[in-house]
Amino acid sequence: MNKATIKDIDLKEKSVLVRVDFNVPLDSQRNVTDDTRIRAALSTIQYLMDQGCRIILMSHLGRPEGKYEAKYSMEPVAKRLSELLHKEVKQAKDCTSQETKQMAKELKSGEILLLENTRFYPGETKNDKELSKELAALGEVFVNDAFGAAHRAHSSTVGVAEYIPAVAGLLLEKELSVLTEALETPARPFTAIIGGAKVSDKIAVLENLVNKVDNLIIGGGMANTFLKSRGVNMADSLVEEDKLELAKAIEEKANTLGVNLLLPVDMVIAQEMNEEAQTQVIRGDVPEGYKALDIGPASAEAFAQIIRNSALVLWNGPMGVFEIDKFARGTEVVAKAMAECEGKTIIGGGDSVAAVEKVGVAHSIYHISTGGGASLEFLEGKVLPGVAALKDK
Ligand code: ADP
Ligand code: MG
Repeated sequence: MNKATIKDIDLKEKSVLVRVDFNVPLDSQRNVTDDTRIRAALSTIQYLMDQGCRIILMSHLGRPEGKYEAKYSMEPVAKRLSELLHKEVKQAKDCTSQETKQMAKELKSGEILLLENTRFYPGETKNDKELSKELAALGEVFVNDAFGAAHRAHSSTVGVAEYIPAVAGLLLEKELSVLTEALETPARPFTAIIGGAKVSDKIAVLENLVNKVDNLIIGGGMANTFLKSRGVNMADSLVEEDKLELAKAIEEKANTLGVNLLLPVDMVIAQEMNEEAQTQVIRGDVPEGYKALDIGPASAEAFAQIIRNSALVLWNGPMGVFEIDKFARGTEVVAKAMAECEGKTIIGGGDSVAAVEKVGVAHSIYHISTGGGASLEFLEGKVLPGVAALKDK
């Protein structure tokens, strides 16, 4: 990586402001229901503790609208982090008051202070200069470890980097190095398997990946648009009529480049999208009144075989409406094939990650990205603003 990380600079005993991605799901009692993102930040926090740093952590949580709202307080996160570290995590009431500045100043070597939700400030999402300056004043060095927020140019991800030296944390570095390797020096055969609801969400990803991969597998709702562009009748399936030409263009590009583009050869269809629906497996045209809601067993097996025989696989987007058991088979088969693949397997996208966790194979995956939106933008070939703002090596 061409950006400096916490290992490239002397941090001994420094006061360090760290942007983490603690935007975790909470239940109605405000318990953290999935602490993956908190765990993912532990190696950076531990490293900073070992360096004797005074550690000031900040993150956003949910989407408060620029003012304090108790339901978006970082309190449950502080509690969970403290349990994971077996250590006190001090909690600030806000980010910029005199009292918070004092708390930051009084931290001792190895101590941790968690600021309140950065989105309690309207300036955060506007990358406001004043807010950035105030946040930056809390530390001597800025560490960005929030890969999941790196595609946003906010005060806590980009603005602060103008005022104090800014370097990457270990999680950010890992995410970037895995994804960069996939785009720049992939092991081959390299397979991308892209699904999810809509082509429109992932056009730019398809357009970029078609230039890089050996196999491009398309499943999920977005396959419907590709199938229709080949002349298959999709009846009531989700199809984006305005993307038919684009689907055709991507397919032509794949042909020109010699990329093996695979679409489902069979589909699970139903009249309704619910647990009670009567399902059928069909090949070819979808009968009137029906929708394609999952890839069929023959497609799933064909996709699985390619995945198992790849040296590198990148998966984003479920193969069907996996939230409903009747339409989850295709996604499950793909998740298992990912786990069985001996090459490197990378998964990005909130729903795809939820799917591998549901199937129980997450531990067999080489890299599960903590940032859905950020990983997509990276795979589109974009420079993430939170990364661009960091010091070069
Ligand atoms: P990710 O979060 O992994 O990037 P997306 O958000 O792009 O994935 O897509 C996930 C959604 O796509 C799921 O809610 C799923 O129900 C939906 N989906 C998948 N296949 C179909 C289909 N055939 N018809 C309608 N929706 C689908
Ligand atoms: Mg999603």
